[in-house]
Amino acid sequence: MAMLFMAPGLKAASWVEHLQAQDPGLDLRVWPNSGPPEEIEFILCWKHPLGEFRKYPNLKCIASLGFGVDHILRDPGLPPGVPVVRLVDEAMTRAMSEYVVAAVLNHTRRFNLFRQDQAEKVWKPRSSLHTPEVHVGIMGLGTLGRHAAATLRLLGFPVAGWSRTARQIEGVECFAGPKRLDEFLARTDILVCLLPLTPATRDILDRRVFARLPSGAYLINAARGDHLVEEDLLAALDSGHLSGACLDVFRTEPLPEAHPFWSHPGIALTPHSASHTYPADVAPQIVENYRRVRSGQAPLNRIDMDKGY
Ligand code: NDP
Repeated sequence: MAMLFMAPGLKAASWVEHLQAQDPGLDLRVWPNSGPPEEIEFILCWKHPLGEFRKYPNLKCIASLGFGVDHILRDPGLPPGVPVVRLVDEAMTRAMSEYVVAAVLNHTRRFNLFRQDQAEKVWKPRSSLHTPEVHVGIMGLGTLGRHAAATLRLLGFPVAGWSRTARQIEGVECFAGPKRLDEFLARTDILVCLLPLTPATRDILDRRVFARLPSGAYLINAARGDHLVEEDLLAALDSGHLSGACLDVFRTEPLPEAHPFWSHPGIALTPHSASHTYPADVAPQIVENYRRVRSGQAPLNRIDMDKGY
């Protein structure tokens, strides 16, 4: 029985090296060289070809090579009853908080504007936003949102968070559910999206949400491109209601050359680089899950299929 690595966009060599370092006896195959399909019990995947799972009749687990599982759940051929698991990793969590802090500070310390001034050789001192008065609001209080909230608090930002179910986090004003979304938005100067992509959160960053933010608010989306209605963001920036946005993820990746985001003065963008997966860091949890599944134990970090995350 074997594990199959199915991530056409990733270099397999480093994954094979680190997974086999955890278990030298591991029968690890790299798609499309999967051998007899009935031998595959565990698939490790990232942006796999849709419909491919159907070919493996003895699957016991599907594992994401990232924190998100939307790339797996969108497959119409997802075998019912097979557990789906995701990665949860400290280094990736820290990296995301670094990204959020960098984006927040680029805005509040005016680095975004200073870079534009520099390009035009303009010497123009600008005062920073006053940290205790900049209310950051984080959509999603999961592994990433909670860590980012704690990190921003250390810097002195007043932080609130919004989640599906009620949460209690020391020093963070917590809001939950659609009914409290408007209240959360109304107190938020910098909106950070760290939600999973589900039917309930797709297109959530739209004109309605932007209209409820105070004038001059700033958006950071480091979750998924499909959270954002792109034309609504452009309209909110062009009307001056939003002062800017920092985006790591896009509906189409790579971002097409003709896309207006590339040259918009209010947008700072990064190419889906907020947080990388390092094979050496996560190989132990993957191999542990493989061991668990083969011995009939429940895998770690299993997704709740009803919630979609
Ligand atoms: P978690 O599953 O740990 O947490 C998800 C959070 O979102 C929870 O607080 C949950 O609420 C909340 N949530 C889910 N649905 C809703 C909803 N309908 N309304 C309000 N809140 C909701 O996720 P992570 O923190 O680990 O990751 C979040 C996402 O970040 C990933 O799914 C992935 O898409 C993205 N990501 C992006 C990366 C990048 O490089 N750009 C890297 C890694 C992840 P509750 O607490 O009630 O369950």
